[in-house]
Amino acid sequence: MSLLQQAPRFDAAGAAQLARDLYGLEAAASPLPSERDQNFRLTTATGERFVLKIANLEEARDLLDAQDAAMAHVAGIGLCPRVLPALDGSRITTAGTGHLVRLLTWLPGAPLAEQPARPDALLEDLGRTLGRLSRALSGFDHPAIHRAFHWDLARGFAIVAEHAPRIADPELQRLVRRTAAHVQARDGERIARLRRSAVHGDANDYNVLVTETPSGTRMSGVIDFGDMVHSYTAAEPAIAIAYAVLDHPDPLAAAAAVARGFHAVHPLEDDEQSVLFGLVELRLCVSASLAAHQLAQRPGDEYLAISQAPIRRTLPVLAGIHPDAAEERLRAACGRDIPTGTQVPVAVTLEQRRSRLGRNLSTAYASPLRITRGWMQYLVDDVGTQYLDAYNNVPHVGHSHPRVTAAIHRQLRTLNTNTRYLHDTIWQFAERLAATLPDPLRVCYFVNSGSEANELALRLARAHTGSRDLVVLDAAYHGNTTTLIDISPYKFNGPGGQGAPDWVHVAPIPDDYRGEYRRDDPDAGRKYGDAVGRVVHELQSKGRMLSAFICESCPSVGGQIVPPPRYLETAYGHVREAGGVCIADEVQTAYGRMGDTFYAFQAQSVVPDIVVLGKPIGNGYPLGAVVTTAGIARSFDNGMEFFSTFGGSTVSCAAGLTTLETVVDEDLQAHARRVGAHLLSGLRDLATRHEIIGDVRGRGLFIGVELVRDRFTREPATAEASHVVNAMRERRILFGTDGPWHNVLKIRPPMPFDARDADRLLDALDEALTPQG
Ligand code: PMP
Repeated sequence: MSLLQQAPRFDAAGAAQLARDLYGLEAAASPLPSERDQNFRLTTATGERFVLKIANLEEARDLLDAQDAAMAHVAGIGLCPRVLPALDGSRITTAGTGHLVRLLTWLPGAPLAEQPARPDALLEDLGRTLGRLSRALSGFDHPAIHRAFHWDLARGFAIVAEHAPRIADPELQRLVRRTAAHVQARDGERIARLRRSAVHGDANDYNVLVTETPSGTRMSGVIDFGDMVHSYTAAEPAIAIAYAVLDHPDPLAAAAAVARGFHAVHPLEDDEQSVLFGLVELRLCVSASLAAHQLAQRPGDEYLAISQAPIRRTLPVLAGIHPDAAEERLRAACGRDIPTGTQVPVAVTLEQRRSRLGRNLSTAYASPLRITRGWMQYLVDDVGTQYLDAYNNVPHVGHSHPRVTAAIHRQLRTLNTNTRYLHDTIWQFAERLAATLPDPLRVCYFVNSGSEANELALRLARAHTGSRDLVVLDAAYHGNTTTLIDISPYKFNGPGGQGAPDWVHVAPIPDDYRGEYRRDDPDAGRKYGDAVGRVVHELQSKGRMLSAFICESCPSVGGQIVPPPRYLETAYGHVREAGGVCIADEVQTAYGRMGDTFYAFQAQSVVPDIVVLGKPIGNGYPLGAVVTTAGIARSFDNGMEFFSTFGGSTVSCAAGLTTLETVVDEDLQAHARRVGAHLLSGLRDLATRHEIIGDVRGRGLFIGVELVRDRFTREPATAEASHVVNAMRERRILFGTDGPWHNVLKIRPPMPFDARDADRLLDALDEALTPQG
C-alpha cells in the first residue's frame, strides 16, 4: 500500500474528539497542510494553541521517539516545538485507528513561504537559525536516525542514479544526470568524508517560521522533524539553500547569505565550505529525481508537476555557474580570502603579447577579450562578465568539464609516458573510438593535433597508393604545417599565400546556396561529385596519379556548408575508380555535433578510407587521431617506425577516453539534434523578418547564417557580418564569421548549449540585426 493510502483521514470534529479523549483538551480543530500525515491546529476557548499530529500508518514509532527526543534536546534554543504528554503520560499515543498521535506546542509566526520577499538579511537569519539548530543537534543521537532514507543527501548520488532515468523531459533528465555527475566528479571524494551529525534536513519554506519584530522580519522557528536523519552536517544549510535559490534573481547571493548566517553560529569546516554549492545542486537533482519516481506512482498528479517547475527553471541557472566561482563566493561568505591573483591591465597584456609573440597571432573582436574562466557553454572575462559561448567547438563536452578534468588530473598525477611502454588506456580508447565508426575503419593512430593527424593521413594515403597528388575542396583548411598549407586553398589562395603546388588540385565546394548547382536542382549533389571526377580526370590526363581526395564532410571554414545528398557518394566513386583513397577531415564535425549522426560523413551514406579527428576529441587537451582500415595500416607499416612523442601518451588517452565516454553518457548527440532543430527553426523565423539573412543552414549544433546585401545577387554582407559579431559580443554572446567572404555567422557552440541558450541567442540576434533608429 502506498504512503498516501496510509495517510490518516480524520475530519476536524474527529481531531477535536481525539484532543478531548487523549489529552483532556477542549479545543476547536482546523486542518494544517501535510501530505503524508494529518496536522490540526487546536485552539482552546482561552486562545491557547497546539498542534495535533496524526501520523501515517507507515510511520515507525522509533522515529517519532527520535523526533521527540531531538525536540527535547534542542528545547534550549527556543526555536522548535515540544511534545506534550497525553493523559496517560505517554508522549506518543494511539488513535483508535492505529495511527500514532502527538500533541505539540504551537510556535508563533507564519511560514517563510508567505513572505513576499526574501532579502539577504532574512536569508542570513535563516542561516543563523539553522546554525543554532545544527549546533544544538550536534550533541544529539538516536538509533532510529541512522536509517536508509531517500532524502538523505549522503545517498544523493545513488538516488539520482536510480530515479533520474524516470524524468520524462529529456532535457531535464540530461541536466539532472549531468549535474549530479559533475558534483560527483568534482566533489565526490570530499563529500564522502564530510563530518556527520543529526540533521533536520527539510528547511523548506513551509517548515521555517518568521515573525515581525521591531528590527524587521526575523526567523522564529523550525518545525517538522519528519525528515531527520544522521547525515552530513553541511546538508542542513545545503538543503535550506536549495530552497532559497529557487527562482532567486541572484542565486549565489542567496546561497552566500544563508551560508554566512550558518557559519557565524556553527562554523563550517574547510571542505564543507568548498562542497556546499555541490550539495545544493545535488539536493535539487535528488528532488527532481524523487519527483519523477513519485510521478511514476501517481501519474497525473498535477501538484507534483507544478512543485517541480521552480527546479526546472533554477537548475539550468545553477548549472551555468562555474563551481569554482560558487566555491569562492561561499568560502568568502564564511570569511575566507578569495584568491584574486594579480591582474595586469588589458592594455599591458595586449602590448606584451604583441612584443613577445609573432604578430600574426590574431585576436577576436575589435577590442579583444581577456577570458579568465570557462564553464560548460559559458566563458567569464577578467571583470566577471559572463558570455554565452556559441563559437568554440574544442571544449566539446563543455569548458572545464569536471569529469574530463578529473581524468586528466588523475592520470597526470600517476603517469604520463609514451607509446613505447605498454599501457591499457590507449587500447581501451582505440577500441571505444573504433566502435563509433563503421567497418572497416578499425586501426587507430594518436597524435597531438588536427594538423598532425592530417599530415599522418597524407602519409598513409601515399604509402598505400604510392602516389602523391591530392584533390582538395576550394576554401578548405586542413592545418598549419608546410604541407597542409600547401593543400589548404583558404591559406594558399589567401593573404600571404603562394597558390597551389602542382600536385594539389582544387575541386569546387559543394555549396548549394552560392555555388554553380543550387537547391532548386535535385541533382546538385551528384553534379558537385562529378566536378571532383572532372578534376581527377584532368590530373590523370596530365599523366599524374591520384593519391587521395581530402575534404571536410561538411566544410566549415568554407562557410558551414552541408553538401547536398549523394555528393560524397559520387565524389568517392570517382576517386576510388582512379585508385585514390578518401580522407574525411572530421576535425570540426565529429562526436555527435551534427545531431542526426555521430560523424558528418554518415549522413551521406559513405565510408571513408581514412578519418581524421582533432579539436573536440580531447575536449581541449591536445589530441588528434587517425582511424583507417587494416589494409591501409598494413601499407603504412613498411619498416619505418611511427612515433609521436606526445601522441597516444597516457594522459592524452585518459582525456580522449573520458571525453568520448562523456559524449555518450550525456547523450550529447540527441541533445544536439533537439537543440539544433530548435535553433535552426528560430533562425529561419528570423530570416523571414531580416532581409539580410540570405541563408540559414546546418545540422545539429553546426550552423551557418549567411548574410547578404541583396537576396537576389547574394552579394556577401561582409562588413555587416563583422558588425553583427561585435554587436552580439556586446550582448554577451560569442560567435564568429567564416566562409570565403567572412559573411557567414558561424554557430558551433560547446555541446551543453541548450534551448534556453538558443532562445537567448535568437533574441540577441534579432536585436543585433534590427537597424538602429
Ligand atoms: N582540419 C580542420 C577542418 C580544421 O578546422 C583544423 C583547425 N581549424 C585543422 C584541421 C587543424 O587542426 P589543429 O589546429 O589542431 O592543428
